Amino acid sequence: MGRGTKSALAALPAVAAGWMALAVVGGAGGAGGQRAAVARQQRDFSKVEIKVTPAAGKVYMLEGAGGNIGASVGEDGILLVDDQFEPLAPKIRAAVEGIGGGGKLKFVINTHWHGDHTGGNKVFGLEAPILAQTNVRRRLSTEQSARGEKVPPSPKQALPVITFDQALSVHWNGEEIKVVHFPHGHTDGDSVVFFTGSHVVHMGDDFFAGQFPFVDLGTGGSVQGLIDDVAKALTQVPADAKVIPGHGPLSTRADLERFHAMLVASTDVVRRRMQAGESLEKIQAEGLPPEFAPWGEGFIDTKTWILTIHDSLAKDAAASAPAGHGRR
Ligand SMILES: [Zn+2]
Repeated sequence: MGRGTKSALAALPAVAAGWMALAVVGGAGGAGGQRAAVARQQRDFSKVEIKVTPAAGKVYMLEGAGGNIGASVGEDGILLVDDQFEPLAPKIRAAVEGIGGGGKLKFVINTHWHGDHTGGNKVFGLEAPILAQTNVRRRLSTEQSARGEKVPPSPKQALPVITFDQALSVHWNGEEIKVVHFPHGHTDGDSVVFFTGSHVVHMGDDFFAGQFPFVDLGTGGSVQGLIDDVAKALTQVPADAKVIPGHGPLSTRADLERFHAMLVASTDVVRRRMQAGESLEKIQAEGLPPEFAPWGEGFIDTKTWILTIHDSLAKDAAASAPAGHGRR
């Protein structure tokens, strides 16, 4: 785990810290596991309701707790993109079957390894194959380190059984569903899912709608990588597409463009101040120009976003610097 991620996590506001315990340390053993277990107990999933929103064509967005779910529902059966937390599995099943006309669950796709997107694997993996990028299986099947604590492997039934390095397609419910890997954005195992006939795109956590994103520098994420990935994804998103973000409301291509512009502009501010020799503390004290304020009202506040950009850029600089000149 890089120094950057540790400091970024330590500085998270309380609301985000609770979410992080679930998202990153979910299922952990040891001291971290106890904290995660406490976080889970404190979070009363019995009150969570699953809201279903038609996106377009055969695709629906499901919101409950954790990452947004995409569902393809039609004559071939049900395909899920991400599955939130294990205790919500019965409600997710009821919601998606309630859409009607979809028959049984046949496939689950994971956009990345975080526990608020893969927790339901423990239940759904017993009845349908899970598909994901190679690094998702690698991280779920081996011990990880998060916030300096060990995260044990997931049980066998929760692991992806079909993996890919770059891309794969599922031909399902009358359309080609393209699952494309975008490297080193939110994590090192991110996929974006293109429902090519329905004109719907599930961005996973490469898109936090209307808010600063969490970038997991400790498991291969990168702010510059995320900027590049979103730019590349935009070249493949149709103008009329509905876009499902990892977190936040159902969005449009214009919303994703605004998110990308925010990433570029805020990173630029921090980069210029770093180049001018300003310390992290000074950059945080100055904050970002007022037009960025609304983006800091979600999981990640402005201070934490500045810290994330700073640590990610510093990590990039250290990696590209000649030996012995990695740190100022
Ligand atoms: Zn995530």
